[in-house]
Amino acid sequence: MDNCIFCKIIAGDIPSMRVYEDDVCVAILDINPAAPGHTLILPKKHYQDLFEMDEETAGKLLMVAKEIGKRQMERLGAQGVNLVQNNGAAAGQTVLHFHLHVIPRFENDGSMVLWNPTEPSMDDLKAICEKLA
Ligand code: AMP
Ligand code: ZN
Repeated sequence: MDNCIFCKIIAGDIPSMRVYEDDVCVAILDINPAAPGHTLILPKKHYQDLFEMDEETAGKLLMVAKEIGKRQMERLGAQGVNLVQNNGAAAGQTVLHFHLHVIPRFENDGSMVLWNPTEPSMDDLKAICEKLA
């Protein structure tokens, strides 16, 4: 994709801090990290989002996320790891090339609010469940 910043990073036309690479993906440090070591896993092939991606690639990327998370814990002293993956503007996706965030977490780092919990009734939950099941 000509106008995609992550395709340009993968091609080496834009500099990045590359922490991992194989035949399917590269992993780079996020330029505005939520915590030190915040890594993005990018498939080498351009997929806009999860819904464009094949299962084999998705599975491979999850295994790479596991390896990066392990390194964050062993080498950076992280006590936990969040995987975050945004699809669509409403979900906060700003770069339209699939990427999986691997975010190291430290006790009480306060670096992320994942969501605001709500308190739906059982009827509300049942109605949603019937649509999704
Ligand atoms: P998202 O909101 O899920 O689309 O996340 C996009 C992420 O890409 C953000 O966390 C940005 O900080 C990160 N980002 C954007 N441009 C670059 C870049 N040139 N190098 C590294 N990370 C980037
Ligand atoms: Zn791309």
